Amino acid sequence: MEIFKFGGASVKDADGVRNVAKVLHRVGYDHTLIVLSAMGKMTNAFESLVTAYMQKETTFNILRDEIETFHKSIVDSLFAKQHEVRRAVDVIFSELDDFLNTQNSEDYDFIYDQVVSRAELLSTKIVSAYLNEQGIENTWLDVRDLIKTNNVYRGAEVDWKLTNQAIVSHIDPNVLYITQGFIGRNEEGYTTTLGREGSDYSAGIFAYSLDATSLTIWKDVEGVLNADPRYFNDAQLLKQISYTEAIELAFYGASVIHPKTIQPLQKKEIPLYVKSFIEPTNQGTVVTRGSKIDPLLPCFIVKKDQLLVSISTLDFSFIMEQNISDIFNYFHAYKIKVNLIQNSAISFSVCIEDKYNQFNTLLPLLQKEFLVKVFSGATLLTIRHFTPDSLAFIEENNTVLLKQSTQETVQMVVQ
Ligand code: ASP
Ligand code: MG
Repeated sequence: MEIFKFGGASVKDADGVRNVAKVLHRVGYDHTLIVLSAMGKMTNAFESLVTAYMQKETTFNILRDEIETFHKSIVDSLFAKQHEVRRAVDVIFSELDDFLNTQNSEDYDFIYDQVVSRAELLSTKIVSAYLNEQGIENTWLDVRDLIKTNNVYRGAEVDWKLTNQAIVSHIDPNVLYITQGFIGRNEEGYTTTLGREGSDYSAGIFAYSLDATSLTIWKDVEGVLNADPRYFNDAQLLKQISYTEAIELAFYGASVIHPKTIQPLQKKEIPLYVKSFIEPTNQGTVVTRGSKIDPLLPCFIVKKDQLLVSISTLDFSFIMEQNISDIFNYFHAYKIKVNLIQNSAISFSVCIEDKYNQFNTLLPLLQKEFLVKVFSGATLLTIRHFTPDSLAFIEENNTVLLKQSTQETVQMVVQ
């Protein structure tokens, strides 16, 4: 079997949905299972809805209606007035309303999963109905019947054994299924989610359990590039990347593929194709066993909004193990992500990311014990497979505040 994954960008509007049908006609869909994420930016929209609901904000009704209007206008554009898909969409919204009107939990993450997951239910209902209309006969599948998880809402762990069994016993290779990425169900029967951008991972789970011949992720770019075209003019396509290299790139922050996706594929050596849904017959990139990357180009990874923090003891004595352990305990407690560490005799520097806006609360605590210098607005630049030229290019165009290198990778905190 083959697994296809279409992301939010591929179904961001009615034309996107039409294009999915075109892609399937072009490349074929025999023995295929399709994993789909929410339409466009609908996961973000549902996230805002949850926040408004929890904080009892007056914007709640507006947001709720915007989400409904977005989906219904796509339905209007794709289907006739009386089409049965309208009922399916209405049911999802009325179930959402019922849930929010009757539930009495204070658990943000629990409510988040019950609400946000509806974006995937909506997209799959609409796309499945449209493909059937276009003669691409398919069956809509509720993925929660197959992906079994623990009950950590917003970051559920998959129970591989149960999931594997459910997938193997349920999936008929002769049926074209359309199902949701990102969501699953726990033992108590509640919906869970696997973490943002988790649809790739869902597709990886299906590929693994079904011993798929390949997984294809359809994107709005040609494939995996050696640099983010938003920051670099001449980004080039990588034709092939090894599994290990893909994991390395993801580790340094390349937003290529959800990092958890690779491991199950690597275990069974299932190739992963990243292809363009605009030029579906182009080669794209394949992640597979074999040489690290082809062509062997330096890969640039940019992480913005970093803080460079340098810490010394108040009496300028050496930084010792105990100090470092105290500092890390703080970072852990305040959910600060540490992206790079450099230690010298009397100071300890870290490049960090303050995703949860907690650093300002932490800073006074650190200052009680240490002398702390903070440089905000820094960028962390990583070059995998750096060359003298690529290094010179970065150093000429930026002020380098800190630099660290291993044989294959150089990282620089720049201003
Ligand atoms: N819709 C979810 C998200 O945007 C999952 C995904 O797109 O992979 O995070
Ligand atoms: Mg998405």
